[in-house]
Amino acid sequence: MNIILLGPPGAGKGTQAKRIAGAHSLVHLSSGDLLRAERAAGTELGRKVSKFMDAGKLVPDELVTQVVLNRVRQELSSDENGVLLDGFPRTLSQAKDLDVTLTDIEEQICGAINLTLDDEQIVRRLTGRRSCPKCGAVYHVKAKPPKRAGRCDVCGSEVVQRSDDAEEVVRERLEVYRRQTQPLEEYYRQAGLLQEVDSDMEIDTVTGEIEELLRSCCFEK
Ligand code: AMP
Repeated sequence: MNIILLGPPGAGKGTQAKRIAGAHSLVHLSSGDLLRAERAAGTELGRKVSKFMDAGKLVPDELVTQVVLNRVRQELSSDENGVLLDGFPRTLSQAKDLDVTLTDIEEQICGAINLTLDDEQIVRRLTGRRSCPKCGAVYHVKAKPPKRAGRCDVCGSEVVQRSDDAEEVVRERLEVYRRQTQPLEEYYRQAGLLQEVDSDMEIDTVTGEIEELLRSCCFEK
């Protein structure tokens, strides 16, 4: 049971991935989180990817694909229920490499959920997003502010804005998304795997819709 979450930045992939993966004991693999962890650890890879991430550009395929696909192989070889991929693939070349890896280990994708949201909503969501660098809790300055200004409700650390959530970087990320990632919709549609969910709804409603769609192609098997 391997699932892909597609959609523009800010459509809620991370939030929904955590919920769906938690409910079905899937391993949640976020390529953005993997890359941020490399940066935080100060690895050579982390240093190489920083300038792309800060500018809102995609990290080159050769830097990201291997890291993610190694994790996919590792997780699927250890008796896991499956993986939920969040933020990967983002280019056709990544999608093709993912297919090769899955075929090689006799696994497949059972569904690709595409979360949709219009650009102005995305800009509002992302520029207001704040997160806790320590425990990962996510807030929004208007829609979900922490109880104590600037402090995480869960662990009390100071919440921060991701450097790539500044407005001009968000607009660049959207451009990049339309140009490089959106063609994946057609790729997965042709494979008979694409399902669309409008993410301009309450978080619980979006989760319910995703669950409903996956029930027929992934969960009942
Ligand atoms: P995210 O947390 O998914 O929004 O990703 C943050 C940033 O990490 C992106 O803007 C890219 O710079 C980089 N990134 C994450 N996943 C990928 C990917 N699959 N391919 C290329 N770059 C990626």
